[in-house]
Amino acid sequence: MTTPRADASGRPAATAEPYRLAVVGGGPRATYALERLSATIDRLGEGHRLEVHLYERTGAFGAGRAHSPDQARTSYLNRIGAQVGFAADETVTGAGPLRPPAERPTLHEWCRRRFAETGDPDLDLGPEDWPKRYVHGLALRDMFETFAADLRRHPGAALHLHHAEVVDIAPAADRRLEVVTADGERRTADEVLLLTGHSYHDPRRSAGPATGGGTRHVPHPYPLEDRLDAGSCGPDTVVGCAGMGLTAIDTILHLTEGRGGSFHEDGPALVYRRSGREPAAVVAFSGSGLFTFARPDNHKPSDGSGDHPGTFLTTGAVDQLRAHVGRAPSGDGPGRAQLDFERDLLPLIVLEMAHLHYVTLFGPAAALLLTQRALPAYLAFVTGTPADGPGHLLAPLERAVDEIADVLEGVLRGKCALFTAQAAVTWPVREVLLHWTRTVYGPSAEAGVRRCVDRSLPPGTVTDALDSAWGLETYLHGNRFDWHRAVAPVPPGASPEEFRASVRTFMARDQLWARQGNLANPHKAASDGVWRDLRQVISYAVDHAGLTAASQRHFLRHYVRHHNRLANGAAPEIMAKMAALIDCGLLDVGAGPGARVRLDGATGKSVVEGPHTGLSRPVDVLVEARMHGFDPRLDALPLYRNLLDRGLVRLWRNPSADGEDFLPGGLDLTPEFHPVDPDGTPDPRFTVLGVPSEGARSFLLSALRPHADHYVMRDTLVWLDLFWPRATSR
Ligand SMILES: Cc1cc2nc3c(=O)[nH]c(=O)nc-3n(C[C@H](O)[C@H](O)[C@H](O)COP(=O)(O)OP(=O)(O)OC[C@H]3O[C@@H](n4cnc5c(N)ncnc54)[C@H](O)[C@@H]3O)c2cc1C
Repeated sequence: MTTPRADASGRPAATAEPYRLAVVGGGPRATYALERLSATIDRLGEGHRLEVHLYERTGAFGAGRAHSPDQARTSYLNRIGAQVGFAADETVTGAGPLRPPAERPTLHEWCRRRFAETGDPDLDLGPEDWPKRYVHGLALRDMFETFAADLRRHPGAALHLHHAEVVDIAPAADRRLEVVTADGERRTADEVLLLTGHSYHDPRRSAGPATGGGTRHVPHPYPLEDRLDAGSCGPDTVVGCAGMGLTAIDTILHLTEGRGGSFHEDGPALVYRRSGREPAAVVAFSGSGLFTFARPDNHKPSDGSGDHPGTFLTTGAVDQLRAHVGRAPSGDGPGRAQLDFERDLLPLIVLEMAHLHYVTLFGPAAALLLTQRALPAYLAFVTGTPADGPGHLLAPLERAVDEIADVLEGVLRGKCALFTAQAAVTWPVREVLLHWTRTVYGPSAEAGVRRCVDRSLPPGTVTDALDSAWGLETYLHGNRFDWHRAVAPVPPGASPEEFRASVRTFMARDQLWARQGNLANPHKAASDGVWRDLRQVISYAVDHAGLTAASQRHFLRHYVRHHNRLANGAAPEIMAKMAALIDCGLLDVGAGPGARVRLDGATGKSVVEGPHTGLSRPVDVLVEARMHGFDPRLDALPLYRNLLDRGLVRLWRNPSADGEDFLPGGLDLTPEFHPVDPDGTPDPRFTVLGVPSEGARSFLLSALRPHADHYVMRDTLVWLDLFWPRATSR
C-alpha cells in the first residue's frame, strides 16, 4: 500500500526526530484511525519520521474490549454483517487514497472469505445475518494487523503496541506531553489521540442500587466470563438483571446458552432445554419492564440508498422551528436559539412515523393524499403555531386514513363498485386496495383480490377467511398508528403472571412484525425509517445545545430509551430466545414497569419489586446490565478524572436561561475535537473521538458503516487532516 523509501544500503533515509503520536484505546476506532493513517502515510514526506504508540488496556488490539475476539460466544452484534466496515470508501468525502475494493471487505465479505478457508459455521453468514460479536472482533484484529503492517512498511514510520492502561497524561517540556501508564511507564508524546470508548461507573462514586451483604453486586457485567462465572452465579442462585437492553440480553444468553443450555425448534416455537448449570432464575427488570423490540429484517440496500429520506422531519424543518420558536439560553441575550424536545420536535417525529406507517400500509399511491392532508397543520407548526402535543398534527392524517379505509371497505364488501368508488376520489383505489391486501395478507391474497376486482366480484370473499401472517389487524380501520402504544405496548399488569402473559403476547406479535421487515411492516417501517434512518436529523436538532438544558436532560433520560427500544434492539432470532427462556420459567419478567430494588434489612438481600404487578423477589446476585454514560467524575478508570484535575479538559455544559445548566458528563470539545481547558482555550495536542464527546453530541456509539459516508469515518478524518500538517511541520 505504501511506497517504501530507503537509501542504497537499504536503511531508512529519514533521520529527523520522530513526531510522536500516542493513541489511547485500541478498539474499533483505533482500527479505523490506523486504516486512514496507513493509507495516507506517504504524506509523511522525505526526511520526516512518525512514531505511533498505541495503548490498549485489555491487549485486544484492533477489537478492544467490547468487540474482543475472546468474549463469550453467545453475544451478538446488533448490526448485519453487510453494514459493518473497516475502511474508508468512495462515499466518504475527502477520504484521500482508498485501498483497492478487495482490501476493504465488509464484515460479511470478510466472513465469507474466512468461511471458505476454515469452514467455521459461525462465519457461514449471509449479508443480512447478524454475526456474533467475537467474529467482529476476529475481523477487527485481522484488519488492524493488516493496517499496522502497511504502516510499518514505511521506512519513516514505527508503530509500538502497549498492553497497558493509560492513567494520566501530564504536560512536559517544550509543549510535549507525558503519557503515564498504570505500570509506571512514562513516554513522551507530541500529541495524543484519545479513542477510549466505553467504560463504566465506579460503584463507590455513583448512586447504585440497594445492596447489602446478602446479595453480590456486579456493577458491570463485562467480561461476562469473569464477572458472571459459574462459581458465583450457579444453579442455586437467583440473578437479578437490572436493564432489559442489549447488555441484559448478552448477560442472559451467557447465563443460559453459555452454560450449556440449548434452543430447539418445536413446530413454529423455539423451546429452551436446560443444562442444569444455569442460575435457578434470572429476574430481568427495567423502567419499562420490556426488552428492546426485535430489529426488523433488513430489506433496504446496505449502501443506505433505500433509507427513508424524511418528509416532515428534515433539517430544514428544524431550522424553521429554531428560527420561529427557539429561545436563546440567556433570555434575550446571545447564544444559539434552543428548542424543547417534547414541545417542538416530538410532534414532527410522531407525524413522520405516522405518515410512514400509513404509506407503508396503503402504499406509495396513497402518499400524496396523506402528505397533502398533513401539510397545512405541519407548515403552521414549523412556522410558530404551537401544537398541543403530537396528536394535533396527526388529526388531518387520521381523517385521511379514515376516508381511505371507508372507500376500500365499500369496495371490499361489494357495497360499491370500483369505478364508482374511483369516481369519487383522486387517489388510485385499485392500487391502494391491492397494496393494503399484500401488506396485511401477502401476495397470494393480493392476486385473489386482483382477480375479483377485475371481474367486478366483491374481493372480501377472498380475504374474509384469512388471518394476517404478520400479526396485523385484518379490518380496514385497524393497524392505526399510536405513539403511546408504540413505546408502551404492554399494559402495566395487575400481577406478575398477567404482565408476563402480556409481554409474551406482545413479543410474539413483535416477532411477526420484525419478520415482515423494515420496508413492508408499517410498525417496523415507521420505527426503523424515523429513529434509525433519520437519527442524524434528531442529532442535528439536539446536538451542541440545540435543546434547552432541562429538555436535553429529559431527552437523555426518556427518549434515548425509546430510541433504543424502537430501533436499536436485537435480531428477531435473539428475541425468540428471550421468549423461549420466559416460556420455560427461567427468565422472569414479572416485575413489570417501574421496578425497583429494595434492601431487606433482615436478610441483607436485595429484593426486586414491581410496584404494579406486586412481584417481590429476593436475588442472590444483582447485575447492572446497562451501559453507563460517559462521566469522568464517576468513571471506574482514572484517566479523565486526572485530566480534569490537571485542568487539561473541562466538562461540556448546556447553558440555561433559568440558571440551571446541564452537564451530561461528556467533554467540551471544539469542532476539531480538541478539548477546551477551564479558561476556554482549545488544546490541539489532544484529540478526543467517540464516547467522551457524547453530551454535546448524541448517538455516537456505533461501528463503522460502509458505503454511507459514515460519521465515524468523517470524525477520524477531522483528526487526520489536521494531524498531517502538525506531524510534518518541523
Ligand atoms: C458491550 C457493547 C456492545 C456493543 N455492540 C455494538 C454493536 O453490536 N454494534 C454497534 O454498531 N455498536 C456496538 N457497540 C457500540 C460501540 O460504541 C462501538 O461498536 C465501538 O465499540 C466503538 O469503538 P471505540 O473504539 O470508540 O470504543 P471501544 O470499543 O469501547 O474501544 C475503546 C478501547 O479503549 C480501551 N481503553 C479505554 N481506556 C483506556 C486507557 N485509559 N488506557 C488504555 N486503553 C483504554 C478499552 O479497553 C477499549 O478496548 C457496543 C458497545 C458495547 C460497550
